[in-house]
Amino acid sequence: MPVRQSFLPFHQPWVDDAGIKAVTDVLQSGWLTRGPRTEEFERAFGAYVGSRHAIGLSSCTAGLHLALVALGIGPGDEVITSPITFPATANVVVHQGARPVFADVERLTLNLDPARVEAKITPRTRAIIPVHFAGHPCRMDAFIALAERHRLRIIEDAAHAIEAWAGERKIGGIGDFTAFSFYATKNLTTAEGGMLTTNDDELADQARILSLHGISRDAWKRYAPDGPLHWETVSPGYKYNMFDVQAALGLSQLERLEEWWKIRGGYLRRYREGLADLPEVEMLGEEPGIRHANHLCVIVLDTDRLRVDRDGIMSALRAEGIGTGIHFRSLSLHPYYRRTFPASAGDLAVAESISERLLSLPLYPKMTADDLDDVLDALHRVIAANRR
Ligand SMILES: *Cc1c(COP(=O)(O)O)cnc(C)c1O
Repeated sequence: MPVRQSFLPFHQPWVDDAGIKAVTDVLQSGWLTRGPRTEEFERAFGAYVGSRHAIGLSSCTAGLHLALVALGIGPGDEVITSPITFPATANVVVHQGARPVFADVERLTLNLDPARVEAKITPRTRAIIPVHFAGHPCRMDAFIALAERHRLRIIEDAAHAIEAWAGERKIGGIGDFTAFSFYATKNLTTAEGGMLTTNDDELADQARILSLHGISRDAWKRYAPDGPLHWETVSPGYKYNMFDVQAALGLSQLERLEEWWKIRGGYLRRYREGLADLPEVEMLGEEPGIRHANHLCVIVLDTDRLRVDRDGIMSALRAEGIGTGIHFRSLSLHPYYRRTFPASAGDLAVAESISERLLSLPLYPKMTADDLDDVLDALHRVIAANRR
């Protein structure tokens, strides 16, 4: 008999009645595209993360891309980032004709290691993209010091880190740009969507214009009674804007963000206690003095003690009715990056040795403590059955 009769998915978004009503209201309002709800969400989100400017977008990927465009990063340039991330983080660098350079991560958090980043800096390096992996903020003091010393820009991939603080500083107001994701599996969802924040007025202006075809300011208002009669193309921009249906859902999700963060924090503690007796399973660590966004529960499997690999454990958990995820397989091991930007042997030792042993357990407010105990039971059963 499997631990669960009904399958526990790796993630389930929580859209409450208020969210459904907010979306319906927009659908009935006569204004569906970018408009007042998007502006309201931008203001509320900017206030939450403590950033002067917040630009609503179609995705986090769009935000990372716009940041590179606004900073003028292109052919001949190098951008250093983490190999333990979603492919989009590096793909956008390739889209700009620049070269993504991977630096190794720290074993405790799987965040970019500032010392390894420094070793990768060349005269062509223009920017660093720290990824706040699983919700643990990167060592931003170290990255800012590097950026100042070498005249580099910082673009943060905060897809996992809406609620995080790096010491005294809230994620979202630190680097030149910070990109957030509202994809369905993230801490706040608009189904698809993202936000780009910055404290720089000029960069914000550029990114905003580029996000809507490169047409002049407030172009989204062009069909409103108080909108501009004419608009002009000032640069060949993109179609990356958020729209009001998304923003209405986002606003309702923002209301519950902290409540949900607390629930996930409690679940992470319960996982840590419940896994303490399994030497084959290790949870990622946490540095003192930070605020974790509690986005993912990532475990590292000690496969030397097991008769099966990570995929074997994943399949066995699935047979017990538990869905899991993988965050992430080192980008240096993906065919495109291995072929196009091969890493030298040993250069990404931590990332490449660990990424085939990572597994993410379900962690979301819609699951119950009983669901979580099922995950623990299933993991104990699967590990016991596969011990060497
Ligand atoms: C989800 C994710 C992205 C991409 O977010 P989208 O909103 O889907 O574009 C980028 N980076 C990381 C680390 C992610 O987890």
